[in-house]
Amino acid sequence: MSLYTAHDADHGPASQDRYAQARQGMVENIRSMAATNHWGARPMAENVLLALSKVPRHCFVPPDLRAHAYGNHPLPIGNGQTISQPYIVALMTDWLALDKQHRVLEIGTGSGYQTAVLSELAGQVYSLEVLPQLAASVAKLLADLGYRNVHVKAGDGCAGWPAHAPYDRIIVTAAARHIPQPLLDQLKPGGRLVIPVGGLIDVQQLQLITKDAAGQFHREDIESVRFVPFIGAD
Ligand code: SAH
Repeated sequence: MSLYTAHDADHGPASQDRYAQARQGMVENIRSMAATNHWGARPMAENVLLALSKVPRHCFVPPDLRAHAYGNHPLPIGNGQTISQPYIVALMTDWLALDKQHRVLEIGTGSGYQTAVLSELAGQVYSLEVLPQLAASVAKLLADLGYRNVHVKAGDGCAGWPAHAPYDRIIVTAAARHIPQPLLDQLKPGGRLVIPVGGLIDVQQLQLITKDAAGQFHREDIESVRFVPFIGAD
């Protein structure tokens, strides 16, 4: 019998143990990738690795792909969208430098996996997904898995989510040519924004934008990445 079988009981606590070893392998792989990264070796924060070792990634991929859930690569989740590569999820989370007091805005809920990782490390997570059906199903999945500090809404992330602004941290998981102004406006002074910038054919740059106490922005390139495009941004 195969180690991995896809059925609903895969969400249950006992069955999650079957994935624990694969999940730990993924975490160790990410740890060594970060330490040897040719863009600049940098140890991955232990709290980020711990969060990844807790989140049941197999619950966020389609049932027929669960056997591949802990490989270090992106996977299709339907609707032409993808669940990001675990290393990229870890990298973006690491650059956010989260703590339990933080209010976080995520643009591009997708599978909800990154949302769950943020939920482990932040105070409140507000996540916007442009595809309404995906937003509804992922909101239910996150609630079923017990993530209480996440709020998922269908909507265009270009406008941000003004009702809960300002945010300590903002993460965008689709590539935009330009950073939408509302996201910059909704970032707190002292806050951090992590976003892939660039078009589909260009190489996209993962960027860290910081807003200083005077409201001035500073940019740092992290590394080259490939994300699905931000829908609706020019
Ligand atoms: N972090 C996610 C990655 C999802 S892929 C994961 O690991 O699963 C990017 C997601 O961004 C897709 O679900 C896509 O529908 C969504 N998206 C694209 N443009 C958007 C926009 N303007 N507003 C909100 N979500 C958007």
